Formats: sequence, C-alpha cells, structure tokens
Amino acid sequence: MDRIHDVVVVGGGIAGSALATVLARDGYDVLVLERQTSYRDKVRGETLLCWGVVELQRLGLEQVLLDAGGCYATRMVPYDELLPPAHAEAAAAPLAGLLPGVPGALDVGHPEACEALATAAAGAGATVVRGVGDVEVVPGEEPVVRYEHDDVAYQVGCRLVVGADGRMSTVRRQLGIELQQCAPRTMGGGMLVDGLHDWPAGQMSLGTEGDVYYLMFPRAGGRARLYLMHDLAQRGRFAGPDREKAFLDAYQLSCIPGSAMFAAAEPAGPCVFYPMNDSWVDDPRAPGVVLIGDAAGWNDPIIGQGLSISLRDVRMVADVLRASTDRSPAAFTPYVEERRERMRRLRISAEVVTALSATFTPQATARRAAYSAVFRTDPVLGGPRLATIVGPDQLPAEGFTRQNVERILAMG
Ligand SMILES: Cc1cc2nc3c(=O)[nH]c(=O)nc-3n(C[C@H](O)[C@H](O)[C@H](O)COP(=O)(O)OP(=O)(O)OC[C@H]3O[C@@H](n4cnc5c(N)ncnc54)[C@H](O)[C@@H]3O)c2cc1C
Repeated sequence: MDRIHDVVVVGGGIAGSALATVLARDGYDVLVLERQTSYRDKVRGETLLCWGVVELQRLGLEQVLLDAGGCYATRMVPYDELLPPAHAEAAAAPLAGLLPGVPGALDVGHPEACEALATAAAGAGATVVRGVGDVEVVPGEEPVVRYEHDDVAYQVGCRLVVGADGRMSTVRRQLGIELQQCAPRTMGGGMLVDGLHDWPAGQMSLGTEGDVYYLMFPRAGGRARLYLMHDLAQRGRFAGPDREKAFLDAYQLSCIPGSAMFAAAEPAGPCVFYPMNDSWVDDPRAPGVVLIGDAAGWNDPIIGQGLSISLRDVRMVADVLRASTDRSPAAFTPYVEERRERMRRLRISAEVVTALSATFTPQATARRAAYSAVFRTDPVLGGPRLATIVGPDQLPAEGFTRQNVERILAMG
C-alpha cells in the first residue's frame, strides 16, 4: 500500500473538486484522482441557478467561482414567439434576491470552474493527481484504489472512496451499480461565443421560436454560452462542417431584439450536441464507496440543474462525514433518500419543461401560452417550472404528482 488517506475522490470535476476542497478545509487527508491533465470545453453546465448558489455559498466556494470569471445574471427575460419583445421585457423575472442573499444565477465557464476548484482543493491541502489512468476500486470496510500515473502503478487505502467521475463513471460500472435511463426527449447542445457586446449585462434569456428552444447565458466581456434544443427527428442538424454557422444562424430569432448580433458573434469553443435524457441509480452506495454528481445519475440538462445537484450532493456527503466517524453504507442513508426524491422531482420538471418549451407543435404552443399565464402564481401548477430556480424541495409535493403533470399536459 503506497499510502492511506481518509478519502479518495475519483474524478476532479465540479462535484469531486468541490467535495475535496470542503473536506480538505475540514482537515481530512484527501486524494483526488483526475483523468484529464487539463480541463477542456465539452459543452457542459455553466449556469448555476439560484438554489445552486445557496449550496455554493453554504460550502464556502462562491469566491472560488467568482475568481474563476463567474458573474451573476440578475434577471431572466422570456423572449418567446408568444410575446412581443416589450411584453417579454415587462415579464422579466428578477433573479437577484429571489432567495435570501443570492445575487442571481451564476454563469461561469465549466473548464475554468473545474480548474479553480481543483486548485482550491490543492490549496486546502488535498493531493490532486491529474492524468491518472486505469483506476480500479475495491469496495469494502477498508476500500482500496489502484491507479496508474506516469507509467507507475499505485495502490492506496482509505476509509471512503467517492465516485465523482461523471456520466460514464468507471466507479459505478466497477461496483455493478445499474444506471437506469429514460429515452431521450430532445437533442440539445451549445457553443461558447465572443463578440456579443450589445447584449444587456446581467440578462439571461430563454424561450421558444419555431423549431428551437434557446437558452442564452451571458458572461463578462461580450462572451456568452448559447444552448439550443431541437426535436430528436432533426438529429445531426448541427453536425456538419458548417455547424458553427448553422448554429449562429438558428439564433437569429425574431422574438429576440437585435438578434442579428448572433450572426456576427465569434465561436469560442466547440459546437456539440447530445441526446437529452434523465438517468438515475436505485442506490449510489457500496461498502466504503458513495457516488456523487453525474456518476450517481444525471438530470436532463434542458433544465440546467446538474451543477446545483452536484453541489447539493457535496453538502449532503460532507455533512455525513462531519456528523460521525461511521462510514458504513447506512451512514449515507440521509443523502441517498434526499437525492432519490430530489431527482424524482427534477425528472418531472424536465418532462414538463420539455412538453412546454421543446415540443414544437401547435398544441404545445397553446399549452405554453396557457401555462405562462398561471405558473408564477400557482405553486402547484408552477411547481415543476419554479423548482428549477428555487430548488425542488421548496415547492409543494402535489406539484410533482402524475396527476399534476397530466393537468399541465392537458392545458391549452
Ligand atoms: C449540454 C449540457 C448542458 C448543461 N447545462 C447545464 C447548466 O446550464 N447548468 C447546470 O447546472 N448543469 C448543466 N449541465 C450538467 C452539468 O454539466 C453536469 O451535471 C455537471 O458537470 C456534473 O458534474 P460532475 O462533477 O458530476 O461531472 P463532470 O463535470 O463530468 O466531471 C467528472 C470528472 O471526472 C473525470 N473522470 C472521468 N472518468 C474518470 C476516471 N475513470 N478516472 C479519473 N477521473 C475521471 C473527468 O475527466 C471529469 O473531470 C449540462 C450538461 C450538458 C451535457
């Protein structure tokens, strides 16, 4: 055995590096094993909605992401084919102060956030090893982790292994934890762009026009992360050699004032699309091992919850470690049960938002019009939508029943 640590975290992305920072600050001996030597833009989450900011603040990590270039969007304007632009602006939702002490939704580059959190973990005393391969986890009361780094094989012991290695989690596969998935609902993807200097600072926007659902998240200096969702039947629409141009052309939507600015924007990263779906596991635990973040099952990115989910996971797992020295699977029951209900509710939110905003039929348009008239004032009908901003546990349970979903689907 090369060394014994308190905790070995496999995967130094958002969830893994955030947890490592928090635990190292608490004085734990933490080892982070990260496959990449440098973080790349793979078109992942870059907007932390308000309830995720609460988690970030509770973890003491807000300044880390602000220093990484993060900035707050303070209002959301729903430019949409259903509304003249002036009406959309009048209907803008304030994001600042919606939750106590939360300045808005935090926009930050994903590679930059991972880099900043990994650096913070190392600064707090964690050992962060990048460029590892062949990670192998042996569960048990005294788990063992084997890995390769610079052609040298290592074997370390610990009290707990945390699998934070993302969607295709090696740890999950090695433990034989089955990943359940629903069928893809849409195709979704995005591109980072520069040159949007005319876009109002601090204003995010989302809405539907024609056959696309767009989500626009600005950052400082004219940079923005643009996402688009389209029907599965159009798979490959943004896949050819001219994909960047096709993507920016699709953004010239008549519901957005001045949308010609998108034609002049400069691609600042790859344009990548994925099938959008939900996934989950029955139980993200094994003796001496627990999964967090996407490794434990991801929510459909159409509602942009993955970063908030990851940070809630980090807090729940850190709280278990702080509460006692018990590292048995039973000690993680509060996390497992809370996560199960949280993800169930967010699956409903994703289904509802897809039905309202990314289903491109006249019936869906009528449903969206009817829903937009009531969702802000009716916490049950509005619950699945509002949950994405304030958090799924902040709304009445009746909002997340099948019966309520059917009511929403029947609207219009
Ligand atoms: C198109 C798209 C848009 C999205 N938009 C949003 C959004 O706006 N807001 C939001 O909140 N969420 C969004 N998400 C979701 C969000 O990106 C993820 O939920 C979040 O990144 C999960 O963090 P993680 O740390 O679990 O995984 P990751 O960020 O994927 O990190 C996993 C890490 O593990 C490493 N790793 C993998 N395998 C191994 C291995 N075997 N050994 C060692 N290391 C390994 C990887 O290199 C990586 O660094 C989006 C996702 C997609 C696909």
